[in-house]
Amino acid sequence: MGLLKKYVTMFREDMKEVMARRCGLDELNNFIMLIGFVYVVFALFTGNKLCIICGAVCIILGYMRVFSKNLEKRRKENAVYMRYMGGVVRVVKYCKVCIKMWIKTLKDKEYYYFVCSACHQIIRVPKGKNKVSIRCPKCEKTFIKRT
Ligand SMILES: [Zn+2]
Repeated sequence: MGLLKKYVTMFREDMKEVMARRCGLDELNNFIMLIGFVYVVFALFTGNKLCIICGAVCIILGYMRVFSKNLEKRRKENAVYMRYMGGVVRVVKYCKVCIKMWIKTLKDKEYYYFVCSACHQIIRVPKGKNKVSIRCPKCEKTFIKRT
């Protein structure tokens, strides 16, 4: 058992080292993988062969970019993608964090968790204070929240 653990740790360290020199999951890869996933799910429901091919192409392309060693080229591709889609990516990220914090608030009896709409900093306030004016510690923006 101990030996297995040692090998798993070694493998993980190796992967970390390998991935440090590869492109990994940048924003463009997330998008390509998502499109591929949507195609595959759609193909599963409709049995559409073209969708399977499109999905497979997207996923393979995504993996090729994830494991790519040509970091400069991949970074340029991602920069082009971010130039056109950066706004959307940021909104999606903001929504994801908001949902996460909303779930965290539901679980936490003592604190409310907010996301600053200006800089996306996470702010924690004690519950049961009614209407409070909150100042973001990072960007100093103030907003009124009901807790
Ligand atoms: Zn802020």
